[in-house]
Amino acid sequence: MDTYIAVDVGGTQLRAACYPQGETKPLLQKRTSTFGKDGTPVDRLLDLIATVWPDHATVKSIGVAVPGPTNHKSGILYRAPNIPGWENLPLAQIVQSRFNTRTALGNDANMAAMGEWRFGSARGHQNVLYLTISTGIGAGVINDDRLVLGQNGLATELGHITVLPDGPLCGCGARGHLEALASGTAIARYAAEQLAQGVPSSLSITPNPSARDVGLAAEQGDPLALEAITRAGRYLGYAIADFLHAFNPSIVVLGGGVSQTGPLLIEPVRQAMTERVMSPEYLHGLAITTAALGDNAGLMGALALAESISK
Ligand SMILES: [Zn+2]
Repeated sequence: MDTYIAVDVGGTQLRAACYPQGETKPLLQKRTSTFGKDGTPVDRLLDLIATVWPDHATVKSIGVAVPGPTNHKSGILYRAPNIPGWENLPLAQIVQSRFNTRTALGNDANMAAMGEWRFGSARGHQNVLYLTISTGIGAGVINDDRLVLGQNGLATELGHITVLPDGPLCGCGARGHLEALASGTAIARYAAEQLAQGVPSSLSITPNPSARDVGLAAEQGDPLALEAITRAGRYLGYAIADFLHAFNPSIVVLGGGVSQTGPLLIEPVRQAMTERVMSPEYLHGLAITTAALGDNAGLMGALALAESISK
C-alpha cells in the first residue's frame, strides 16, 4: 500500500497523519504540543512523524503546513512568528533527510486553500480565492488548477493590500492594510474604540470584548456589534472586488473564526463587492461560501501538497 504523510505545524500544537493513497480518512493520526521538555520543536516534529509512520506500507511523500512564509523551491521556512528561532530554517531538507522521503512545505493559508480546493468547499473548481479571517487575514489562490506561489513563494499575501491609506496600523507595520480593517483583531479594536467613546452597547459589560464576543452580540441584534461586523464585511468586499479583477475565480471561500459569523459578514461582503466590481461578468456563476474543513484545512492541504509532489 502507498501512503502520504501530512503535517500541520502550529504555534501551540503539531499534528501529523498518514493517509492511504486516494483516501481522506487517516490510517494513523497523532498530535503533540509544539513546545515541551523533550527536545526542540524540530525534534518534536520529527518524533511525531515517526509515530505515524506506517509499519507495512510505503510513504510516497510528506507535505508540511507551516505558520509562516516559505520558499517552495528551496523548502526553506523564512520565519514563523510564533516559534522563536525558526528563521531561514531548511525544514523540508531536514525532514527529507531524516526519513529519506520527498518532502515539501507550504504556508498554512496556502495549505488551507489547497485543502478546501481538493477536499472541501471548492472541490471541482479550477479558480479559487480562499481567505482566512481570524487574528490576521491569510489567503491562497488556485489559478487554473495550480496554487499561485510567485517567484519566491510569497505571492497572494492578500491580507496586506492597502484598502485605506493612512488607516489603522497593521500587524506587519504598515497602515491601512485589509488585515488592519477586517480581521478579528480589527473588529475587536473597532468595537473597543466605539465603547470608549460611549456608544451604547450590550458589549459594555464585557471586559475587552473579542471578535467572537462582537459576533455573538451582533447575532443578538446589538447595533454597535452589527456595525463592527458590517464595517469589516464592507472592507473585505471592496478588497474581494479587487481580487476578482486580479484572479477571476469561480468561487470565494471564507475560512477562519470570523467567517463563522456567516450571513452577518457575507451579506455586506457581497454588497460591497457587487458595488465595486468593474463589470458584472466577474459575478456570473461566482459562488461565495464558508470553508468546510475547519481545523483540518491545514492538514488536508498538506495531504494535497504531498500528493502533488509525488506525481
Ligand atoms: Zn499588513
